[in-house]
Amino acid sequence: MGAGRLEPPFTDEHEELRASIRRFVERELRPYAARWEEERWFPNEVFEKLAANGFLGLKYPERYGGEGGDYLHDAVLIEELGGCGSGGVAAGIGAHITIATPPIFKFGSEEQKQRFLVPAIRGEKIAALGITEPGTGSDVAGVRTRATPVDGGWVVNGSKTFITGGVRADVVVTAVKTSDEGGHGGLSFLLIEKGMDGFSVSKKLEKLGWHASDTAELAFQDVFVPEANLLGEENRGFYLIMANFQWERIAMALGAVAAMERLIEASVAYALERQAFGRPIGKFQAIRHKVAGMAVKLEASRSLTYHALRLFHDGYDAIREVTMAKLMSQRAACEVADDAIQIHGGAGYMREYDVERAARDLRLGPIGGGTDEIMKEILGRQLGL
Ligand SMILES: Cc1cc2nc3c(=O)[nH]c(=O)nc-3n(C[C@H](O)[C@H](O)[C@H](O)COP(=O)(O)OP(=O)(O)OC[C@H]3O[C@@H](n4cnc5c(N)ncnc54)[C@H](O)[C@@H]3O)c2cc1C
Repeated sequence: MGAGRLEPPFTDEHEELRASIRRFVERELRPYAARWEEERWFPNEVFEKLAANGFLGLKYPERYGGEGGDYLHDAVLIEELGGCGSGGVAAGIGAHITIATPPIFKFGSEEQKQRFLVPAIRGEKIAALGITEPGTGSDVAGVRTRATPVDGGWVVNGSKTFITGGVRADVVVTAVKTSDEGGHGGLSFLLIEKGMDGFSVSKKLEKLGWHASDTAELAFQDVFVPEANLLGEENRGFYLIMANFQWERIAMALGAVAAMERLIEASVAYALERQAFGRPIGKFQAIRHKVAGMAVKLEASRSLTYHALRLFHDGYDAIREVTMAKLMSQRAACEVADDAIQIHGGAGYMREYDVERAARDLRLGPIGGGTDEIMKEILGRQLGL
């Protein structure tokens, strides 16, 4: 067990990075995680501190203030954030680095990169991705937020919901409909900024888990967005969404693997310490077998996830493997969390033990970033059905 052992695709250099991120997590995040969960918020300074260590720009070129690394460096960061003690903190940071800034890097003009990516890497501007709406989630083609062309730009009307980091975001990478074309055509992305007239956070949403992360409902009422804020090509937004899905799903799989690893460690420690009927509960076959089953789910998920990560990193079209990794790891993590609660008995149901929070946080996995059902649809089509 133990994140941190040398594992392909990671090298010694990645393991050094891992050690430094782990120290950061132990010093700057873990001691405060429980309080931030209670407060339903973590401070923006977390982004500044991450930036001061270079962690917000690991995969971006040095000319934008990044570290000149690649997705593997981000993979190490995501695994280590899994140990911060709050899925909400990991998700809040994750949304910024995993889903919101990559489209700006990939599709942004040089001017947009200077205006949004550079301050995002410095932790000065926080970014969110706004696709989901009250009326549509899985069916991206159903986006209704409308951008009507006017002199010098567009006027946007509509709403978004479930947007991670949306309450604090300085810029929302927003999917809008720019033409009446049906299906996936007619979608575009606009960079909508805090302070633009008519743009507001209509609600901070309460959730089952991820308590420390802010999840927003956003309203757009006659918001004028200048031409300079069009991200990528007009009416080619669906392509932009697809371009980052694989990475988002690998990142979710890595997070689930990291979480399972910690749940098993906690369960074994508890099973050795807790006594019942004159012996540690870990000496009962029922508990030992449960832990064995948890370990199999972890290793199967890890193998599939690292396999997908390697293919993705080497530039292969890894839709099948990434989809499988996302599907398997998210459900496995929920099952492992449930087993961890069971092993902890009543204590597992209590707030003071991390397993209770992990179980709530992990339930998002089979829903976010494409639901289990959508993953199966993708796989079914890949198999020729
Ligand atoms: C905490 C949280 C954070 C989020 N963060 C973001 C964010 O930052 N940005 C963002 O844009 N979105 C975000 N989302 C939204 C998330 O991506 C969507 O919730 C998810 O894609 C599912 O969409 P939906 O909720 O509209 O469910 P629906 O699409 O309405 O699905 C409801 C049910 O129907 C099933 N279903 C739908 N279509 C099919 C089908 N073809 N076949 C079989 N079953 C189907 C689904 O699998 C699901 O079980 C977040 C959600 C949550 C809960």
